[in-house]
Amino acid sequence: MSAVAGTVLVLNSGSSSLKYQLLHPETGEVVHGGIVERIGETEVPDHKAALRQVFEEFAGRGLDLTDGAGSPAGIAAVGHRVVHGGRSFHSPTLIDDHVLAEIRRLSSLAPLHNPANAQGIEVARELLPGVKQVAVFDTAFFFDLPPAAATYAIDRELAAEHALRRYGFHGTSHEYVSQQAAAFLGRPTSEVDQIVLHLGNGASASAVRGGRAVDTSMGLTPLEGLVMGTRSGDVDPGLVLHLGRSLGMSIDQIDDLLNRRSGLKGLAGENDFRALGALIEQGDEHAKLAYDVYIHRLRRYIGAYLVDLGGADAITFTAGVGENAAQVRADALAGLERFGIVVDPARNTGRVTEPTRISPDEAPVAVLVVPTNEELAIAREAAAL
Ligand code: ADP
Repeated sequence: MSAVAGTVLVLNSGSSSLKYQLLHPETGEVVHGGIVERIGETEVPDHKAALRQVFEEFAGRGLDLTDGAGSPAGIAAVGHRVVHGGRSFHSPTLIDDHVLAEIRRLSSLAPLHNPANAQGIEVARELLPGVKQVAVFDTAFFFDLPPAAATYAIDRELAAEHALRRYGFHGTSHEYVSQQAAAFLGRPTSEVDQIVLHLGNGASASAVRGGRAVDTSMGLTPLEGLVMGTRSGDVDPGLVLHLGRSLGMSIDQIDDLLNRRSGLKGLAGENDFRALGALIEQGDEHAKLAYDVYIHRLRRYIGAYLVDLGGADAITFTAGVGENAAQVRADALAGLERFGIVVDPARNTGRVTEPTRISPDEAPVAVLVVPTNEELAIAREAAAL
C-alpha cells in the first residue's frame, strides 16, 4: 500500500488562492496541507499551475498523488469546497460534466467564489482523471430552511425567476459543529436544539433544531447577518440605494465598501480580532465601538434564535474568534441567567482545542466551544459517496 492509500485531497479554491489538505477521512490524520497564495500575481499564473506545484510538493515528500489514483492503493477521492449550490445542489455531489457546468452557471449568485471553485475542479479532474471528484456545498445544510426563514419579502415572481432567496453559508461548519456538540453532550443530534455561532473572519449564526437548520444569518450572499472582519452584515437596504443615488457610488464601489471596507475594518481599521483587542487596551474609542457593535449584533441573533427554537439545549461557539476569544463568548451571553444561560469564568479561559463546556454542569443551557474542521467534514462527505 502506498502512503496515500485511502486519503482524500480536500481543495478550497479561492479567486487567488488554493488551500489544500490531504487527510485520512476516518481518523482525521492530516498527511500534509497548505496554501498557495497570490495566484495570477506571481510565478504561479493560474490554478492549474498551482495544483501542479502542490503535486510536486507532495512528490518531494515522497507522496505521489497520481500513483494508483482511484485504485485502493491510491487516494480515494478529491473533495472540493464549493461555495454556492443554488437551487440545484443540496448534498455532496459526484462531479461530472453536467455538475461542473451547473456550478459554473451558479456563478451569477457567487461571482467571487464559484468561478474559482469550478476552475479548481476542472484542473483536478485533468490531473487526476481516475479519481472521483466530489463537490461539497457551503449552502447545502441550509437548503431545507423553512420557507418563512428562506424567503425575502420581495416580488415573488421576480424572486422565483432569479432564484432570489436566503441560502446561508458556512453550512459544512454549522453541520459538523452541531453534530460534534450533540456527541459531546452524549445525545443524538435529533434531540438537541442549538444555536451555532461560527465566528471567524466571515461570521454566521444558525438555529439548528434536532440536527436540521431552521434559520441562519447569511442570505443570498455571505454579506447578510453578523458584523464580520471586513463585511458590514445587516444594513438597511435603503443605505445601498442612498449610496448610489445621493453619493453617486457605482455598484462596484458599493460592493467593495460593504464586502471589504466595512465590519471591524471599516469601524476600527483592523479586521483581526487580536489586533482589535490590543487597540481597545490602548484606549482606542473606534475599536471599542467596533467591538460593541459586533457584540450587539451577535446578541440580537442569539435572541432571535432562542425564540425561533423556543429555547435551546446548547449554544455552541466555533471558528477563529469563537474558539479563541473568551471575552467575546462572555460578552455575547452576559446577563442571560434568566434564560438559563450562564458562562463560568473559570471554564471560559482562552483558546480551546477540543469540545469544551464553559457553562456550569447544572446550567439549563450547555454553552460549548467546539473547534470546527471543514476539511475533515468535506473529506468524510467525499469518502462516503
Ligand atoms: P476564516 O476561516 O473565516 O478566515 P478563522 O476562522 O481562521 O477565519 O478566524 C479568523 C479570526 O480569528 C481572526 O479575526 C483572528 O483574529 C481570530 N483569532 C485567531 N486567534 C485568536 C485569538 N487567540 N484571540 C482572538 N481572536 C483570534
